[in-house]
Amino acid sequence: MPRSPAPFNRHALPGVPSEKERPVTDATLVIIDPATPLPAGTAAPEDRLRVLDPQQPQINVTDLGVTRGDGIFETFGVVGGDVQAVQPHLQRLQRSARMLELPELDLDAIEQAVRLAARLHERDDVLVKLIITRGIEGLEQPTAWAYAFVGDDYSHRQHHGMKVVTLDRGYPRDIAKTSPWLLQGAKTLSYAVNKAALREAHRRGAEDVIFVSTDGYVLEGPTSTVIMKVGDVFVTPRTDQGILEGTTQAALFGIVASLGFGTDYRYVRRSELDQVDGLWSVSSGQQITPVINLDGTDLPYDRELTQTILKRLQSRTS
Ligand code: PLP
Repeated sequence: MPRSPAPFNRHALPGVPSEKERPVTDATLVIIDPATPLPAGTAAPEDRLRVLDPQQPQINVTDLGVTRGDGIFETFGVVGGDVQAVQPHLQRLQRSARMLELPELDLDAIEQAVRLAARLHERDDVLVKLIITRGIEGLEQPTAWAYAFVGDDYSHRQHHGMKVVTLDRGYPRDIAKTSPWLLQGAKTLSYAVNKAALREAHRRGAEDVIFVSTDGYVLEGPTSTVIMKVGDVFVTPRTDQGILEGTTQAALFGIVASLGFGTDYRYVRRSELDQVDGLWSVSSGQQITPVINLDGTDLPYDRELTQTILKRLQSRTS
């Protein structure tokens, strides 16, 4: 009989013997130390990767990622053992790091850690979360790790669609220009608001959220990019509105262009969503999910086209 993983022991203290048997590898952890460039010739990037037991406590209680949510992250999809969209994720990570004025990162070491965490996992279809925090208070050295785990199962939603509500994001669409210190458009660890919005959606009988700016423009989901289809053109909101450049959205635009559709980045008013020929939520974790009902109104859903795009998204290797 397969052994179930040992429960995470929050109260484990240094010196307390760990379990003799290795836990089932339902998650793998690679620490990157340091995640900043080393002086030339000091160490090969792989020398600073340490594979550790994710069921043991690893994070210092004064780490600013924990105490302030001060850090950034990326979630990479892994399908059939291939890590998807590696370069787009790393470039977005670097943009986020610069917005937060974190030290320059060593993207080669980070890439190797992500690939190693994925390779060590016993399953081929996982997610790898890459976390970079500002580090332990006072040390000024980022803490970084890559963690591979089995993500949620989105197959029901991907095939049958989901109900979504729009929620006010509480700021106008030009927030990134007027107030850059709010870090909108960086993928920071501060996702408490995003999670609260999802709980509000569940209270309203929906499964996901589309944020709308105070001046009535469509932004993004709490963990996804919004895509709509108008006639033969796929449209996504422009990213100069304090939202993330989605790696899945970019891949999807390549796919639909190869199928003969047009693509467009523009400002989208909330009122336009009632007239669309298709609406989707896309991200590395869920790939693509059709929105079949928005704020209580049913929307058109092209099942065949959605499944074609889903298959192409899942089979991409870059
Ligand atoms: N927007 C937000 C706020 C997100 O958190 C995410 C993913 O987590 C996305 C968009 C989609 O990005 P990607 O397709 O690169 O996963």
